[in-house]
Amino acid sequence: MYRLLLLILSFSYLSMTEAETYAIIAPRIIDGNANTVLENQAILVMDAEISAIIEISQIPQNAVRINLPDTTLMPGMINAHEHPLLYKHDYQNAHLQGSSAYKALLGLSNLQRLLKSGWTSIRVMGDGDVYYANQDLRKVIDAGIFIGPRLTGAAHYISITGGGGDINYLSSEQSVIADGLIADGPDEIRKAIRKEIKYGSDWIKLMVTGAFMSVGDNPKNIAFSPEELAAALEEAARHNIPVAAHAHATEGINQAIIAGARSIEHGSYLNEKSIALMVEHNTYYVPTIYIGDYYAHSDKLLAQSKNDDFYLSFRDDWLKMIGKAHRAGVKIAVGSDLCGYAVPSAVCAREFATLIEAGLSPMDAIKAGTIVGAQLLQWDNRLGTIEPGKLADIIAVPGNPLNDISVLENPVFVMKDGVIIVNQLDNYSALPY
Ligand SMILES: [Zn+2]
Repeated sequence: MYRLLLLILSFSYLSMTEAETYAIIAPRIIDGNANTVLENQAILVMDAEISAIIEISQIPQNAVRINLPDTTLMPGMINAHEHPLLYKHDYQNAHLQGSSAYKALLGLSNLQRLLKSGWTSIRVMGDGDVYYANQDLRKVIDAGIFIGPRLTGAAHYISITGGGGDINYLSSEQSVIADGLIADGPDEIRKAIRKEIKYGSDWIKLMVTGAFMSVGDNPKNIAFSPEELAAALEEAARHNIPVAAHAHATEGINQAIIAGARSIEHGSYLNEKSIALMVEHNTYYVPTIYIGDYYAHSDKLLAQSKNDDFYLSFRDDWLKMIGKAHRAGVKIAVGSDLCGYAVPSAVCAREFATLIEAGLSPMDAIKAGTIVGAQLLQWDNRLGTIEPGKLADIIAVPGNPLNDISVLENPVFVMKDGVIIVNQLDNYSALPY
């Protein structure tokens, strides 16, 4: 009996120490660095890391071969702007109706769907939750208790009273906790930032201007005073925490860039000066175009008329400016801003097509959703490309995305940290749905 136990122990010890090496084989690899496609190579994965890219004839004997014919391998996609807990289209009502626990449970399910759809990393840009559900979700995912994408980001969007993060459609007699974190004046804003950091935000999200999707504010107005904006950027910088600035109004965009925001979100009314400033200050730009298209002419939003205005009055001009910004050297990242529980996760990848419509090449659009996103998150030493030493976040899409970008909506293979999440060609899924 004792000998048997020893035998079992030594077997399990062996299986723990002898790492499995995977050889992922596909006709094409887009590695996130090169502008050309690698053909007929294999990616070797050992533990959580990519160990080599080699000729198929060089694959070691002991490697487990994963054959993915008629696909293209590429780095896992990075969604730089998302709100995983928003579970209904009318997200402000939903915020008032769902508890933090309810949002966390739907949010986890949603994040798992997003991972299965190829989004291996997600930056949360504040969420409609009184507490810190995304920070808790990150903890349980990082600890390996639940499978999910790698998370970073802000717990809340910080907004002025009456701004894009406030609830502006109830009577003055009602007192509710808004979806955003409301702060007015430099002192309250400093305290809000300190609280965000205390409870696990590694980004600060500021609603620098009004918003399109919330009720009762104007995206063409600047929300924060210059003193408030300066205090926010100064406070975050002292804690070495980057700031993402939600900004539509031209002056709001430009003020946020000058104040030192790491990224501009949306930037709907950017002008030539905004582009020059972004180049000068090395600011990242996350335009989040497709969400406006998704809600165009629908009746799903409480603030539907503002979204229709987006579609009718400035979408074309805006896309031209995004193309101009790209050609001027502004680093553009993919953010879908759309994929809560109510929206099918495949839809999120349609942002790539809108970036191509704006003037990015298909290869540059893919880089926007991989290596540029990793650079924005300051994770590019570990993520964003397929190269030896990086974490094995790898997806395979059917066909060739350079010919048809829509294939990014339905990856057939997803690996995160060297773990296979889904392999449709083998009818395998690590997740139940
Ligand atoms: Zn957003």
